[in-house]
Amino acid sequence: MTSTTKHSDKTRGNIVELKGAIDKTRANSRRVKLLNKLAESLYRSAPEEALSYTTEALQIAIQIKYEQGIGDSSNLIGKIHWNQGNFQKAEDAFMEALAVRERINDTAGIAKSYNALGAIYYAYGVYAKSLDYFIKSLKMCEAGSDKVEIAKCCNNIGLVYEKLGDHEKSLDYHRRSLDIRKETNNKISIAYSYSNTGNIFKIKGDYDTALTYYFKSLKVTQDLYDNYGIAHACSLIGEVYCTLGDNAQALEYLSKAFTIQEKLGDKAGKAISLNRIGEVHTRKGKHEEAIDYYHRSLAITRRMNAHPLLESVYKNLADAYAYTNDYKSAFEYHVLYSEARAALFNEEKTNAVAQVSSQYEYEKKNREIERLNSEQEILREAKDELELFAGKVAHDLKEPLRMMSSFGGLLEEKYYTSMDDVGKEYLSIIKNSSVRMQALLSDLLEFALSGNDTEEGRRTDLNDTLLIVKNNLRLCLKESKAKLIINDLPTINASFSNMVQLFQNLIANAVKFKKQDADPIIEISYVEQNNQHIISIKDNGIGIADKHKEEIFQIFTRLHTRDKYDGTGIGLATCKKIVKNLKGKIWVESEMGKGSTFYIALPM
Ligand code: ADP
Repeated sequence: MTSTTKHSDKTRGNIVELKGAIDKTRANSRRVKLLNKLAESLYRSAPEEALSYTTEALQIAIQIKYEQGIGDSSNLIGKIHWNQGNFQKAEDAFMEALAVRERINDTAGIAKSYNALGAIYYAYGVYAKSLDYFIKSLKMCEAGSDKVEIAKCCNNIGLVYEKLGDHEKSLDYHRRSLDIRKETNNKISIAYSYSNTGNIFKIKGDYDTALTYYFKSLKVTQDLYDNYGIAHACSLIGEVYCTLGDNAQALEYLSKAFTIQEKLGDKAGKAISLNRIGEVHTRKGKHEEAIDYYHRSLAITRRMNAHPLLESVYKNLADAYAYTNDYKSAFEYHVLYSEARAALFNEEKTNAVAQVSSQYEYEKKNREIERLNSEQEILREAKDELELFAGKVAHDLKEPLRMMSSFGGLLEEKYYTSMDDVGKEYLSIIKNSSVRMQALLSDLLEFALSGNDTEEGRRTDLNDTLLIVKNNLRLCLKESKAKLIINDLPTINASFSNMVQLFQNLIANAVKFKKQDADPIIEISYVEQNNQHIISIKDNGIGIADKHKEEIFQIFTRLHTRDKYDGTGIGLATCKKIVKNLKGKIWVESEMGKGSTFYIALPM
């Protein structure tokens, strides 16, 4: 145990006693039980140490084929990983425990595993699946009348109902859980029931009642020296103070939570606290600091697969960057935010559909459908919001740009002859920059609006789209003496305008990135492969280095300076967006100095 970890005297006594018993015992199965018991009493205060004891227990249990012990150890390993925010590892361990328990028909154990798995899916934000596991667990526990477990299930179901927006049902389950916990005098759990009940009041906007519950929770956990609980309560209190605009109190409680979480190695807790501390800074208008905290939170969250938190961090980053006028980053995080939202939505939808077999299906499904409909609405809004955002940026920037270019024009008209060479040079820089800005804005708008197939189900003959592209690009094709070879192309399900845009961007690039000593030759071909349309656009240009093959599809990525090749770095990102929207793929194969071939694969 680390010297910094605090334990109550009683716990310390227990640990010494257990260690003594482990040293003395000769029976291996008893050793497994004792090691797990020791790990159980340590896992909240000294997780690493607990993990080593329970891993030892697991190894012995496997050696002596003691299945109950394998199940219990795996479950405990899952619990420790869970507490540290290692959700994937926790899920694997819980699954392992469930498999063993099912094999030996250990109903109490199975119920616990269901509960644990429900908690994992809850953290992933897959609420339908999570509710299903919790309800299955509750049914089994009720049959066995294990009060501690019944209370746990009720508590967890309350948590899911909170997420599903049914506050009354959530409060009912929390009340039932709290009553049982008081009856069994399960103090740590009472603390959690307090904080979970507080959460519902917070959501309902009754912050005073919420704080009362949170402080009750803090008091209980402090009396028990339960570090996880103390950090949890402090974090919640900090969040309410943040909402109430009391920044000083908010920072005090959030920092306290963060310090404890750091000591415990509680990644999930840390990520949440950092995000909240960032939010306080945003409220204070300290955007640079806020961004720093969000990034620290993001670094942890990205590795955890916790979509709801990820979504919140991306949104906070997008807003914070917008405040600092860094529109490029704001835009990038807005894209990530809407993608995270979409991922969450799709995952839940799939899960909801896959669960028709459950007997609780009827009520739950109706609720799910209602919620998914509203989620879809939110998703649509997020997408609209993103487009509006890009549109607004482009629109807002156009006005000052117009001023710049028209006053630049006036300056030239009235004073050009009286200017010295330096002045003329400056003026030409201003003019060039405004032309460039114009290009950036129109490409950005094009990116924002592309890919949304409003003509779903429409059949488009790609040969026709290329006629339009050839006409649109006729000047540049002529100037560069480009040879365009178009092989026979198919008719596919896609919008005509998106396809024009896709080919136009790719062909324009093939012309632009030509070699100095050779006229461009561009060949467009088609094959059908594995039930996919594969379209290729091949050029004999300068080529792309291997290391850049993926990044060129990211928005604003350019490999050359502007004096060599003009451009905005948005064209290929737009292509990718269009193709992705059609559930297809785009990639490039290339050899430096010889040329590149862009491939597009679309489902048939
Ligand atoms: P832009 O053309 O405006 O710079 P794009 O997003 O269309 O932006 O392309 C991104 C980068 O990918 C380009 O700057 C260029 O370096 C590289 N690239 C794209 N197409 C080709 C090509 N056909 N040959 C060589 N390089 C290319």
